[in-house]
Amino acid sequence: MSIYEELGIRPLINASATLTRLGGSVMPPEVVQAMVEASKHFVNLDELQRAVGAKLAEMTHNESAYVATGAAAGLVLATAAVVAGDDPKAINQLPDTTGLKNEVIIHKSHRNGYDHAVRQVGVKIVEIGTETETKPEELEAAINDNTAAIFWFQGAMTGHGDLPLEQTIAIANRHNVPVIVDGAAQVPPVENLWKFTQMGAALAIFSGGKDLHGPQASGLVVGRKDLIDCMRVNGSPNHSIGRPMKVGKEEMMGLLKAVELYIQRDHEARASQDEEVVAGWCSQLNRVRGVQAERSFPNEAGQPLPRAKVTIDAAAAGMSRDDVVQALRNGTPSIEVASSGSDVIYVNPMTLADGEDEIVLNRLLEILTKQRV
Ligand SMILES: *Cc1c(COP(=O)(O)O)cnc(C)c1O
Repeated sequence: MSIYEELGIRPLINASATLTRLGGSVMPPEVVQAMVEASKHFVNLDELQRAVGAKLAEMTHNESAYVATGAAAGLVLATAAVVAGDDPKAINQLPDTTGLKNEVIIHKSHRNGYDHAVRQVGVKIVEIGTETETKPEELEAAINDNTAAIFWFQGAMTGHGDLPLEQTIAIANRHNVPVIVDGAAQVPPVENLWKFTQMGAALAIFSGGKDLHGPQASGLVVGRKDLIDCMRVNGSPNHSIGRPMKVGKEEMMGLLKAVELYIQRDHEARASQDEEVVAGWCSQLNRVRGVQAERSFPNEAGQPLPRAKVTIDAAAAGMSRDDVVQALRNGTPSIEVASSGSDVIYVNPMTLADGEDEIVLNRLLEILTKQRV
């Protein structure tokens, strides 16, 4: 019996995505081991943060790096860094931003639940463009002496008529305004750990608990040393806006190991294995009446990995898409997939452990064929 089952909590098979509410990802044993080792000793946390950051910076080809409790915490600290800098009075004053540079520019099309992390620092959000179109002159016009940063959200919200990131950076650079990229779910590809900053973004922020397979409560910030030094003083253990987002020694050492493993990982082999799984699923599922399965690429976050898009014709299949989702969830083991529209599920191999792809397929076949007789 797992420790979860002792609490009456059923572990589940995650065929959806690296969703925080499902647990993000599962750490490799080496990462767990690093956390166990870290848990055994006292250390000076500030020294550890600097030493871990130096290694992470080197591994990711960045000037500097910082471990936060998550990508969202990274957004808070990055905002605090550009608004309060390293001025003790300003740091203490947050989230009151009176008298400080306190405007943050965000594409209207990029607005999403995670921008709350930016707003909680007390800044004023200045939106540019519409949901479907943004003009360079709108960005130019939004920049003024009070502009602290431009935040760029990369993911499903990107690409709806927004300015290209390159152009956003070029305009921002002319005005000396930092561009901060939220790339929380933007690995793979692993190169994004250095690509955004090499493009000229001041900072790039990644979730440690998604595909990096680090501790769920960890995040990675990479980029300009001056800004990351400001993040340190705005973060725990200092009394600051970041103090409630404490990063433990275990998370720091766990994330360090996770990033090391992730950079060494054979990403091509992983992608082709996922391709094989998706192709196998599709060919089996396409034999079932009322079911149409096809490869979908890239996935919802824009990662270069395939999923199976399974469309269910309720009349022909004898059950609706929601019936299938419920049956997967209620069965043993419980399986989570993503729903889309009224008749589609996406089945994702990227969060599956070895052998789970067969369990998922067999459950799907069982559900979809049993009900029809
Ligand atoms: C997941 C996600 C976050 C939050 O990451 P955490 O590590 O869970 O804090 C922020 N922004 C985007 C775009 C995300 O997808």
